[in-house]
Amino acid sequence: MINVNETHDPNLKSWIESANTSDTNFPIQNLPFCVFTRACTYENVRVGVAIGDFVLDIYSCYECCLFDDESFTIAVSADNYCLDHSVMKKNKDLQRAFRRRLVEILSETADEETRKNVQRNLIPMSEVQFYMPAHIGDYTDFYCSIFHATNVGSMFRPDNPLLPNYKYVPIGYHGRASSVVISGTEIVRPKGQNRSDDGKPPEYVPCKNLDYEMEVGFFVGKCNELGETVSIEDAEEHIFGLCLVNDWSARDVQAWEYQPLGPFLAKSFATSISPFVVTMEALAPFRVPAFERETGDPQPLDYLSSEQNEKNGGFDINLEVYLQTQKMRDENAEPFLLSRSNMKDLYWTVGQMLTHHASNGCNLQTGDLIATGTVSGEGKDERGCLLELTWRGKEPIQLPNGEERRFLEDGDEVIMKGFCEREGFRRIGFGECRGAILPSDS
Ligand code: CA
Repeated sequence: MINVNETHDPNLKSWIESANTSDTNFPIQNLPFCVFTRACTYENVRVGVAIGDFVLDIYSCYECCLFDDESFTIAVSADNYCLDHSVMKKNKDLQRAFRRRLVEILSETADEETRKNVQRNLIPMSEVQFYMPAHIGDYTDFYCSIFHATNVGSMFRPDNPLLPNYKYVPIGYHGRASSVVISGTEIVRPKGQNRSDDGKPPEYVPCKNLDYEMEVGFFVGKCNELGETVSIEDAEEHIFGLCLVNDWSARDVQAWEYQPLGPFLAKSFATSISPFVVTMEALAPFRVPAFERETGDPQPLDYLSSEQNEKNGGFDINLEVYLQTQKMRDENAEPFLLSRSNMKDLYWTVGQMLTHHASNGCNLQTGDLIATGTVSGEGKDERGCLLELTWRGKEPIQLPNGEERRFLEDGDEVIMKGFCEREGFRRIGFGECRGAILPSDS
């Protein structure tokens, strides 16, 4: 567990003015990693850190001799086109040293010469194209929101919404890594088997009930060997940082295919992630206790239980989902807020997910992406997907321009945002995870 330290001091300011505005996602207290290149150039893809309205090119900073002995190892590895071959692999002490050094060179106390050297390696975010932060070898999706699980369960099994395993096992499935894409990538409406008429055979048609799922993902840093487990006490040592995830879902395909082995083609056509990986250290001020189980609920089994996890295993991360339809874009209308939820409402923590995942000796590898499942809260406006918000399409959403939505239409863009706020600390943000729907290629 990483404690709050001097890099979280709310009074720290940067000499880069855009990092000091009250609404920036990227103040000096955040410093999330990304992989980028300058748009429309043939420059190499490389590792950067977001600060205000800029991305800082880490390897170029190293070439300008901006890193000292301790932080040097990480900086020199930034000459790489992904985080899993550089910073994610390094131990937490080096990562901490690197963050401290970044704060030094970006803080308003930095001297003139340092500022000049940093300045030449700052690229305006508006000129940047982002790439996948890591080679995701494996992608796993959990189902950690008890509110989501109960809502979805009650649509299909009104008398028995939550299955008996839910409070014992962090439920998950193996997703598809090859179709995880970076924010901004357009999503082609998938085709699949639809069986809307129980009396007839299914048809192979473009998905009719296309949905998003508001999730948070984490990247595995330190790996574990095949056959080796990870204790709940050590779990967070294996987690590098968090990003936003949209687990696009074809509900009609899902309803027909999911029994008995769970989701398959309803999920594997695309998953979008935000470009910035917010480190565990940056998130230290926003840790909260694990979800408080109702009286009568079983306690987690011993291997999923620790005092630290109970006291501090959760994250207070605000999540928002917006929709902008083609018509809204044509009319220059602002995106419409569909829901607000919070990661602290998850029944299972990231530590429990990681420990459970490795509890059979499954080897988790650097760069693996593990997502939480739809983050829904108790309230109606805290439901993290359209399936819940429109109750399977029965209660359509009325948009301000008169349009109506049950599920996503072609041209719709889904925009997800995440941020942390706590009194006595600087607000930090995750940026956005966007994706617009293209018509099926039929
Ligand atoms: Ca999901």
